[in-house]
Amino acid sequence: MGLIVQKYGGSSVADAQSIKRVAKRIAEARRAGDDVVVVVSAMGDTTDELIDLANDITPLPPSREMDILLTAGERISMSLLAMAIANLGVDAQSFTGQQAGVITDDVHGRARILDVKATRIREVLDAGSVAIVAGFQGVTEHTNDVTTLGRGGSDTTAVALAAGLDADVCEIYTDVDGVFTADPRIVPTARKLDRITYEEMLDMAASGAKVLMLRCVEYARRTQVPIHVRSSFSGHTGTLVTDEPLDREGEGQMEQPIIAGVAHDRSEAKITLIGVADVPGSAARVFEVVAAAGVNIDMIVQNVSAAQTGLTDISFTLPAEDGKKATAALREAQETLGHAELQYDDAIGKVSLVGAGMKSHPGISAKLFGALRDAGINIEMISTSEIRVSVVTRADQLDDAVRAIHSAFGLDSADGEAVVYGGSGR
Ligand code: ASP
Ligand code: MG
Repeated sequence: MGLIVQKYGGSSVADAQSIKRVAKRIAEARRAGDDVVVVVSAMGDTTDELIDLANDITPLPPSREMDILLTAGERISMSLLAMAIANLGVDAQSFTGQQAGVITDDVHGRARILDVKATRIREVLDAGSVAIVAGFQGVTEHTNDVTTLGRGGSDTTAVALAAGLDADVCEIYTDVDGVFTADPRIVPTARKLDRITYEEMLDMAASGAKVLMLRCVEYARRTQVPIHVRSSFSGHTGTLVTDEPLDREGEGQMEQPIIAGVAHDRSEAKITLIGVADVPGSAARVFEVVAAAGVNIDMIVQNVSAAQTGLTDISFTLPAEDGKKATAALREAQETLGHAELQYDDAIGKVSLVGAGMKSHPGISAKLFGALRDAGINIEMISTSEIRVSVVTRADQLDDAVRAIHSAFGLDSADGEAVVYGGSGR
């Protein structure tokens, strides 16, 4: 007998039928003898719909009210799921993040979990019931305000509960069979990985792979919670996220595989400041302004300055949702920063190749650039880390870029197409 935390994403509980199907799975796990804690997301595209609704009311909804609004989505699914499980003759009770003891900081919209005081959940388990917990939400310690953890945050709730309850495994149920070498919606021949390291999964998530939220992987690595990513629509074994050495290249070879996968991201935008003085302190001033606006940046490129003018251009990428904030702050500071012009471009995409084995393998970037050349795709920005190469392209060429790189590195599966069981991928 063990303790399992299971997390079901929005597409796994999209309608009444799906909720009943998931309830069956949960009841089976409980009947098999394990203690079961379930973390659930809002039904289908509920969260997006609530956001659209708020934006119809006001262009800048207050973040505290936004959090109250969005947490309602998970309240709906958790209570319906508890009813469905009870219907099958298994005791189940649902809890909001607050009731479950998920304590966060007070940063509305992207709060961090500080502590999980799971005494209430423990009691429910000890009484033999299944505990259902609303994902993606918590409460601040001092003001009792409701917070959300950022999009996709239910994964983090699940890992935090698994760590707090010392669970044997955290199963993340989704609409595909595991972590793939690329998003199967774009690359149908993508291959399922049996295992992936925390480090690789971190870079995949940071590069836009949506199968797991970045913070949840960070949390799991820190607390060494093993994650099993699998489908709620099939009985297949999924992908294990763990630090044990991988063996992807064949029997007995314990060498690190070169490539884990190709991730992509359409959520970024690019800002270019034209005509910035190439003198000490220029970049510091620009990014101090951006930081003061509370905007996180990703890639940065600064050109060599033109000899006659001593002026240069600085480009950087940022989440497109922060575009208004950042451009407003930079425009306001234009006199101090001294740039001639600001260009904003949100028609970009980012594709990243990730793999722990890259560290010791020359020629990876060259091969990637060659694949893009052969596909006729222009590279606008490049950044690299020890285990990742990322490239910015035009947004409308991103899918082609993903496919070109995926096949250039021989990642296509030999045994048929990956199944996407549900979800709109929104
Ligand atoms: N419902 C939230 C979202 O759609 C949280 C989650 O699904 O994990 O982002
Ligand atoms: Mg969702």
